[in-house]
Amino acid sequence: MFQVKKLPYDTRALLPYMSEETLKFHHGKHYQTYVDNLNKLIAETKFEDMSLEEIIKQTAFNVEYTPIYNNAAQAFNHGFFFDHMALNGNKRPSHELLKKIEQTFGSYENFEKEFKAAALAQFGSGWAWLVEDQKGNLKVIKTANADTPIASSLKPLMTIDVWEHAYYLDYQNRRGDFVDAFLAHLINW
Ligand code: MN
Repeated sequence: MFQVKKLPYDTRALLPYMSEETLKFHHGKHYQTYVDNLNKLIAETKFEDMSLEEIIKQTAFNVEYTPIYNNAAQAFNHGFFFDHMALNGNKRPSHELLKKIEQTFGSYENFEKEFKAAALAQFGSGWAWLVEDQKGNLKVIKTANADTPIASSLKPLMTIDVWEHAYYLDYQNRRGDFVDAFLAHLINW
């Protein structure tokens, strides 16, 4: 049985950039529902004793397993997302990763621009990510709906959820303002 990862802060900790109401719905309802659905779908199947990552890799790109994949991917994505926020937390990555970001994108500010562009370019629901490929190269990518870099053996280093449920209560249609607030105040490397 999978469980939601507990928030590493309380539901008022990200004010004013993410409201208590948003966290209560997003973590307490949306994320919880993905985990509950996953548990129901894998009960008494070969997936029951696997890790989330294993389930994702074994169900990705296979229409027979789309519901399991979608819920496993969303369970992973949300656990990762909530763990990488804090109010004015670690706004820059470790020295080593920061150097790699600067080498790849030119500067941290350019990385932020690319990350924001990916978050805005994702049409409809999805995610923007900083990932590392198997050769150690960094990339900014976007994924649609539940899709997760784990399915393609990419290592996630940062993400933002751009499903409307992530920001609509606080920012309505202003996804760009949410991404700006995330990068300036919520990101926690
Ligand atoms: Mn979400």
